[in-house]
Amino acid sequence: MAKRFMVLADANNFFASCERVFDPSLEGRPVVVLSNNDGCVVARSEEAKRLGIREGTPWFSMRERARLDGVVARSSNYELYASLSARMMSLMATFLPGQEVYSIDECFFSPADDERRLAAISRRMRRATLAGVGIPVSVGIAPTKTLAKVTNHWAKRHPESGGVALWSDIEREYGDRALAEVSVGDVWGVGRRMTKKLQGLGIVTALDLKRHDHVDIRHRFSILLERTVLELNGVPCVPDDASANDGRRKGEILCSRMFSSPITDFARMSQALSVYSQKACRRLRRQGSLCSLVSAFCATSPFGPPGSYQTIRGAQMLGDPSNDPLAIGKAACDALRDRYDPHARYVRAGVLLMGLRDAGRFTTLAGLEANKDEHHLGSVLDEAARKFGPARVGIGYGGIRGLGRNDDDTGASWTMRRGMLSPRATTRWSEMAVAHAD
Ligand SMILES: [Mg+2]
Repeated sequence: MAKRFMVLADANNFFASCERVFDPSLEGRPVVVLSNNDGCVVARSEEAKRLGIREGTPWFSMRERARLDGVVARSSNYELYASLSARMMSLMATFLPGQEVYSIDECFFSPADDERRLAAISRRMRRATLAGVGIPVSVGIAPTKTLAKVTNHWAKRHPESGGVALWSDIEREYGDRALAEVSVGDVWGVGRRMTKKLQGLGIVTALDLKRHDHVDIRHRFSILLERTVLELNGVPCVPDDASANDGRRKGEILCSRMFSSPITDFARMSQALSVYSQKACRRLRRQGSLCSLVSAFCATSPFGPPGSYQTIRGAQMLGDPSNDPLAIGKAACDALRDRYDPHARYVRAGVLLMGLRDAGRFTTLAGLEANKDEHHLGSVLDEAARKFGPARVGIGYGGIRGLGRNDDDTGASWTMRRGMLSPRATTRWSEMAVAHAD
């Protein structure tokens, strides 16, 4: 029986690479992708990294330098990224069995096969993804997921690997040095707070963590970090989907956003709260929960004149636990109505659903039923979103004129600002790429 391996395929600089697919003029140039409302840098091409641009840099603070350096900035084009991700994933699934999509740009496979053969298949998969979708990926092959992550990073940092690396080769050639070069905070599953505590114990590199007694780690930290130690030692123990939080039930659900321009009147604020409530309800239904407490908040800019910052919050208990977007949207608006200051300029708002419980197991005295979404409005909205895309259908104040590229064609002036959006070439007929032949 062949040994089982973990194969991790992960796109290189995914968002920046997506921007290049339909705009080859960006090839070889430093590209950065900005967060919602064109706030700060969330993705960088290799060239941008080499210029020393850090992730999280606010766009306004680097705009001038970017111009001098010839940096190209793009707004986040999530529609394009999601569509290219789907293409890339389905293409890669034809090469290896047991695909587990872990994030928008990475997936694991866990085949039982000869590792040399797996490396050869991975090279073919890599070429096909580059030729067929236009996205470069790197592949790491190792006995465990944690080591596959390390190996994948290694492949990215060593172009001579051709984008595909085997942990056994790295170990043979570099021995302990390979893990000694990785700082403990960069190990998969080690959070920032944990990093501090580990460093305090003298555990600074991945090699230190590998050599530390795993039982001691369990006692000081958690069984999750103990698994990481075992995985670094080549013992597979991260189960499928364990880290993909989609399937995990959450204790509360928050949906909050910045507005592109401030909101003053309550009617507009109600629109925003209604839309966020619908989004939160979608997540609530997806995980099969009901909520009994709805909290809402809105805040002015913390960068305004001194003393002007204000944030208001309120909460409403629901009579019965519910997943009804109408009841929850109304509760969110009611929670803020009395405290609302019509003279303030609010730049952010959010809806938080709490007191969650399992919809399937909710029973009570007869006559005190859960206020479930009886008209099935929620599922109709979900279905419509699946068929026609998000924000095409909504309820009440939902501000649903389609998310266009300019404020004038969104209808709702508070939606995201995306001033440097590239064409959504794979999902909008009107924005399809045009090729010219001479
Ligand atoms: Mg990636």
